[in-house]
Amino acid sequence: MDNEKITGNESSGTEEGAEKTSRNFIEMEIDKDLAEGKYTHVVTRFPPEPNGFLHIGHAKSILLNYHIAKEYGGQFNLRFDDTNPTKEKGEYVEAIKKDVEWLGVKFNGPYFASNYFDRMYEAALNLIKAGKAYVSDLSAEEIREYRGGWNDVGKDDPNRNRSVEENLDLFTRMKNGEFADGEKVLRAKIDMKAANINMRDPILYRIAHLTHQNTGDKWCIYPMYDFAHPLEDAFEGVTHSLCTLEFEDHRPLYNWVVQNVGMFENPPRQIEFAKLYLTNVVTGKRYIKKLVENGTVDGWDDPRLVTIAALRRRGYTPESIQKFVELGGIAKANSSTDYAMLEYCIRDDLKAKAPRMYAVLDPVKVVIDNYPEGKTEEFEVPNNPENEALGTRKVTFSRELYIERSDFMEVPPKKYFRMFPGNEVRLMQAYFVKCVSCEKDADGRVTLIHVTYDPASRGGNSPDGRKVKGTIHWVNAADAKQVEVRLYNNLIDEEKGVYNEEDGSMNINPDSMEICQAYVEPALAEAKAYDRFQFVRNGFFSADPKLSQPGQPVFGRIVSLKSSFKLPAAH
Ligand code: ATP
Ligand code: MG
Repeated sequence: MDNEKITGNESSGTEEGAEKTSRNFIEMEIDKDLAEGKYTHVVTRFPPEPNGFLHIGHAKSILLNYHIAKEYGGQFNLRFDDTNPTKEKGEYVEAIKKDVEWLGVKFNGPYFASNYFDRMYEAALNLIKAGKAYVSDLSAEEIREYRGGWNDVGKDDPNRNRSVEENLDLFTRMKNGEFADGEKVLRAKIDMKAANINMRDPILYRIAHLTHQNTGDKWCIYPMYDFAHPLEDAFEGVTHSLCTLEFEDHRPLYNWVVQNVGMFENPPRQIEFAKLYLTNVVTGKRYIKKLVENGTVDGWDDPRLVTIAALRRRGYTPESIQKFVELGGIAKANSSTDYAMLEYCIRDDLKAKAPRMYAVLDPVKVVIDNYPEGKTEEFEVPNNPENEALGTRKVTFSRELYIERSDFMEVPPKKYFRMFPGNEVRLMQAYFVKCVSCEKDADGRVTLIHVTYDPASRGGNSPDGRKVKGTIHWVNAADAKQVEVRLYNNLIDEEKGVYNEEDGSMNINPDSMEICQAYVEPALAEAKAYDRFQFVRNGFFSADPKLSQPGQPVFGRIVSLKSSFKLPAAH
């Protein structure tokens, strides 16, 4: 259940002493609306603009809207907010649909705001007829100037008192393409002295001679977001329009639009919640787009990004993202969430689900001098000691093995318990081995490690109660397969923070990806795209769907095993 400290939620007991649940402030508002009879049912929506891929922040909005609709037995709509033809593309529509479905969400639609253009136009005509909208000849710059700032008041537009007839005529001609871009706009007639600048006769329609991906050349006037969005919600019968905090100041305008177009008896209600921000991670669509366009990353699904497509490619599960959103809760104030919490969620999800296999990422060869040449043994090992259902597998063992280079030191520091000359360690589930010596190349790099084994320690068990402090993993050199493994680090230079304050550029970490040629158990060579494993002692990995070939997977690290994240005590 949600933690109160993070979420600011209020706890309440449920009927008949059932489990204690906590309701977030949005649910409490909806409960009230239903109790007062303001609405008889609940309809929510997720309204992305198809101008890029969705990111983890959008996942929060999707899951919140979906769960609210589900909880109240209501309806959840996916609607593309495609009212601005300059930035939108069909390719993004497909990507967004795929991401929403992948998150495990069932939606009505998809709907397209552009399919409502006729009705939006009609709404604008209604406003003009009611004397609540007028055509202005001012330029964009003049309008901005006349509007004034938050600390003063605005000035009336010289065209503010045009007659209804003249406005109808001019607006029709705007629609018919008689004017150039920017020559005229339609403005709402509200209040140039309003304290909230959004209410100072906002622009409702602008001229843009552009081809729209859905409506083609039918329109050369397009509605502004603040006019279109409330109408889209209302046309679909949305009851609760959940949006992020930056729209709080736009709420009076949202209400004005749905109340004044004369089309809706029971218009929707906007409620704002805090955006999800991740510490030291690029989440803004605009910034991700920049990284894609300038080639810093390999597309919108580069595993170092936090787009939903990137998280999927990296091996994150929908369940881990659902859990992450649930843990974060819904708040009324902005704050940042630690990326480590996302990592905690995928670790927690995979720890019992993923088979645990041996993979040596930075291999060095070991020879067991007293092990018979040509002999091969098999050990039957559990695939996941925490989950018997995953069964067992056989791993082979022979005279030559690979271990991690970091598991050997010729001259060890204090408290190093792994392999060094004279020290005995356990080869995981195999034998105790004692290091004898090592061979090096001309550069002093270790090329071969000599050990002897104790046949009485078969299975990795002590034959006589003697203890070893180090246990290391290994693969059998005779049948290990070589595969490419990618280790990802933060794309951002954490010491400097995400954005460079001087020029707004991003502080990129030049070492955000390490590529290794690893030796792995032979079965891993058969891994298919998205197959997930724990590589013992190295982390959780998954076969990259873009880079893997049949029989030749490329593994990327989803997350390491060590965590700095502590789940709050209430969980
Ligand atoms: P960005 O902030 O990355 O540029 P956006 O707001 O432009 O994204 P839209 O397609 O306009 O993206 O957003 C669709 C919905 O997702 C909106 O309702 C928006 O409020 C919500 N949303 C966007 N970013 C976040 C976030 N970080 N956390 C929660 N909800 C978000
Ligand atoms: Mg937006």
